[in-house]
Amino acid sequence: MEIIRRNLLDIQQRMQAAVVRSEFRINIPKLIAVTKYAEPEWIEALVELGCRNFGESRPQQLAQRKVWLAEVKDLNWHQIGHLQRNKVRPVVESGAWIHSIDSWRLLDRIEEISAELQLTTPLLLQINISGEEQKSGFAPEDFLEEVERIKSLNHCRVLGLMTMAPDTEDENIIRNVFRELRILRDQARQKLPAELQLPELSMGMSGDFEIAIEEGATMVRVGSKLYRGLTS
Ligand SMILES: *Cc1c(COP(=O)(O)O)cnc(C)c1O
Repeated sequence: MEIIRRNLLDIQQRMQAAVVRSEFRINIPKLIAVTKYAEPEWIEALVELGCRNFGESRPQQLAQRKVWLAEVKDLNWHQIGHLQRNKVRPVVESGAWIHSIDSWRLLDRIEEISAELQLTTPLLLQINISGEEQKSGFAPEDFLEEVERIKSLNHCRVLGLMTMAPDTEDENIIRNVFRELRILRDQARQKLPAELQLPELSMGMSGDFEIAIEEGATMVRVGSKLYRGLTS
């Protein structure tokens, strides 16, 4: 608990400082504690310390942990890993935010299941800015070309965009990826009505969340840095 408290405090202070450096003067971004590799007692410590947003990669683990922590008030769950079309239902049922919509077919499926369950699903579209083959996400030009499709959704709330930076030490490359996501969002806005302004930018992980905040992130997804010094 003490180690996690220190790690969390350090991350929060770094986030605060990055907000001050950012030219966007955003509110403090939402910290999503990524728990895909976390032991249950680490998650309990995070809850105890006030974390209320948790991110999981695997739909099944998200569903199980949501049930496990059902008695904690105001918890928000985030599906951040790749989602297969045949795994949509439990995630929609869970009410989680879905950050990893990477195709129009997947989005259509989520609309369909959400309609069936009479739910409205909050989600983000994942964009593959860096163009790396092993990364999922829309190609920026495909997204921009067809972004008006989101106007016809009645059971999905598209709240913004998500991306992952490449695994590199080169800060300029990372910064450019985050910057391009923001610019892409601004371009999309011009094609969208006032109620679809894509306010959320989910970008930044343990190694690059400060750069992401400087470039306008509203949500950061941090895992390993929370658990530094712990062994499972
Ligand atoms: C695992 C993961 C994270 C967190 O990564 P860390 O480097 O451990 O902070 C963030 N986003 C996605 C999509 C992930 O899969």
